[in-house]
Amino acid sequence: MSARVIHTVAEARAAVAEAQKRGATIGLVPTMGALHAGHGSLIDTARRETDFVVVSVFVNPIQFDRKDDYERYPQDIATDAEFCSARGVDVVFNPRVEEMYPQPQRSFVEVEGVTEHLCGAFRPGHFRGVATVVLKLFNIVQPNRAYFGEKDAQQLAVIQRMARDLNLPIEIVPVALVRERDGLALSSRNRRLDAAERQAALMLSRVLFAVRDRIGAGSVDAAQLKREAEAEFGREPGLRVEYFEIVDADEMQPVERVAAPVRVAVAAFAGSTRLIDNVLCTPPAASH
Ligand code: AMP
Repeated sequence: MSARVIHTVAEARAAVAEAQKRGATIGLVPTMGALHAGHGSLIDTARRETDFVVVSVFVNPIQFDRKDDYERYPQDIATDAEFCSARGVDVVFNPRVEEMYPQPQRSFVEVEGVTEHLCGAFRPGHFRGVATVVLKLFNIVQPNRAYFGEKDAQQLAVIQRMARDLNLPIEIVPVALVRERDGLALSSRNRRLDAAERQAALMLSRVLFAVRDRIGAGSVDAAQLKREAEAEFGREPGLRVEYFEIVDADEMQPVERVAAPVRVAVAAFAGSTRLIDNVLCTPPAASH
């Protein structure tokens, strides 16, 4: 069956209300489109766990800190709709900007602490834009469960925190990061990479995996691990690293010593395309 593509808040509410009347549980997968197997994994998980799956496809202007990134963001709703149909999605919610923001937005969700470092430090207003649009989507779709990828680990932490702090009656479900066979994390922005940039981008996962191995083997000194990683990145002139950080997995605060599971996260530019990646690393003492 093909997924129904709808464009208005009223239609989305009506479609969900109808499903709820039948007793269906609702799953929401928020995306910005240009769907790939990473999104597919979220959709498949939602499909298994809920009865009625809504995928939102909305390139949210208020979460972009760079105009060129917003304007160049890949958009292809016809291909996305086919992708969703093939995976058994019930509704694709694809509102226009004017539908989501019919008047200047004056209310925003600010999640403190977890947004301080990593992308939060380099993309002013980004997580405020993310949290605000996700809360709007939650209020429109009223899902029982909502699915977020560990690819965007800080975003996941922000949404989990918002849901707890604001008593949202929604289960936030994390889904594992999906990679290409050579290690590159799947991302809609990968479409913008030329062959040389794509090759340079492989250094991201390569360094993260090496750090994971070092932590697994007992390295605990974060400053030392960071120095080693920076030296490795220095060997790839095609990458400009924005940050490389080792943070605790819940509060997303930098650690000095790796005494518990940590997120090792990186952001870097390959040409003009900004890429992010991360791995969860568990020190030997914490793994049993
Ligand atoms: P985006 O369309 O990039 O805003 O992503 C929408 C959702 O898909 C977010 O929850 C992302 O974390 C998730 N996602 C994007 N890429 C991947 C990936 N490679 N693996 C797992 N989830 C992903």
